[in-house]
Amino acid sequence: MEQHIEPFKVKVVEPIVAITREERLAAIRRAGYNLFKLRAEEVYIDLLTDSGTSAMSDSQWAGLMLGDESYAGSRNYFHFEETIRDITGFAHVIPCHQGRVAENLLFSTILAKGQIIPNNSHFDTTRANVEYHAGEARDLLCAEGKDPGTPAPFKGNMDLASLAQLLDEAGPARVPLVMITITNNSGGGQPVSMANIRAVSALCHERGIPLFFDACRFAENAYFIKTREAGYADKSIAEIASEMFSYADGCTMSAKKDGLVNMGGFLATNDGDLAEKIRGLLILMEGFPTYGGLSGRDLEAIARGLREVLDFHYLQFRVGQVASLAEQLHAGGVPIIRPAGGHAVFINAGRFLPHIPPQQLPGQSLAVNLYIESGVRGVEIGTFMFGGEDPATGAPRQAAMELVRLAIPRRVYTTMHMNYVGRALLDLYGKREALQGMRIVKEPPFLRHFSSTLEFVESGGSVTEATVSS
Ligand SMILES: *Cc1c(COP(=O)(O)O)cnc(C)c1O
Repeated sequence: MEQHIEPFKVKVVEPIVAITREERLAAIRRAGYNLFKLRAEEVYIDLLTDSGTSAMSDSQWAGLMLGDESYAGSRNYFHFEETIRDITGFAHVIPCHQGRVAENLLFSTILAKGQIIPNNSHFDTTRANVEYHAGEARDLLCAEGKDPGTPAPFKGNMDLASLAQLLDEAGPARVPLVMITITNNSGGGQPVSMANIRAVSALCHERGIPLFFDACRFAENAYFIKTREAGYADKSIAEIASEMFSYADGCTMSAKKDGLVNMGGFLATNDGDLAEKIRGLLILMEGFPTYGGLSGRDLEAIARGLREVLDFHYLQFRVGQVASLAEQLHAGGVPIIRPAGGHAVFINAGRFLPHIPPQQLPGQSLAVNLYIESGVRGVEIGTFMFGGEDPATGAPRQAAMELVRLAIPRRVYTTMHMNYVGRALLDLYGKREALQGMRIVKEPPFLRHFSSTLEFVESGGSVTEATVSS
């Protein structure tokens, strides 16, 4: 992997301090071995998420000072609307404070009980919003996307044959809308090809069914199309994004990703009737349609961020930074999902720690030990997150894969930081046989990964000190 140099220089710095290993051990014990319960100051390199963690540019910070905080008709709203219209081609632009609100507004409006929403892979908030409105969230990911070991260029693609079959069987009466998540977050940030988008669009439109994008990482997806799909090498990211959006009828978006801001989102569509209904709900839930739960200054920062994210050199560094961490790990033998997606590296904890069975949470053990040894915070995406009791049978459930995700914030960490992360993992890989499984001591009824407390299976937590001390 070719290394790309940072296409920015630093103007403002935020100090980070590495506390000692002893202090980290005390912190993680206090947090019940749950990384969500640490104080952020106790983390050295925070790879928990790429959502809302971007560094803004000088232009975005300057834009904040131009915030027009009028209740109605703020000039920043018009800049925001004009920018999104220009990038997506969608006529109606509705601001809201996060992506999940856009999802809630959409499904409150178009989804009736018992209807099905197909998607390549639903992100967890999207699935939750579909299910909350008594719909069925159906994932139709292509076969390559389900195979962690084998590289393929577009592992986020929709399975076209399954989609066609579903649409024929269920028809427009039961499928009010089809979604494609670009890039496919739950599937590892893997991209969707233009050919696949075009084919999904044709399948939908032949049957009169609208297509929406969950567009959080549309620019990263466009970069993959430019660099991997025949015929796009000479097109700009803006041209590719514009073609992608031309096949859809609307999108939901969390601006906390490719909007390069810390908070915000929107829904955009060509359907005027839908937009009117959604604006009615927006006033109830978020605020007047020209601010939708955001300050005027936030709208300005999003408008500027959406332009900056289209810069090829920014994306080349961004996607390259993720890819080079993945290469460093792969070269050292660490099992990861390949190729890396646009925003994160996924470590296959099941293969990293084959001696720990899934019910002893190998991903959580890996993530906790990585924190103790290095101060790097990732997140388990496996049986700790998705397990628990089967609601029907009461039997313990197991995730399809035991993963640890290292999500890379945008424009935040340097190449030295990333090298440190790579070395920390290679170091831990060398000591992997000493790592112990974990068990949950106390768990809440829902979303247990956020608040459970845990311990190591042997000698209640002291094992890491004894076995993985450097
Ligand atoms: C983050 C995300 C969302 C939800 O957005 P929030 O701003 O966190 O509410 C929806 N879909 C995808 C693919 C995401 O990555």
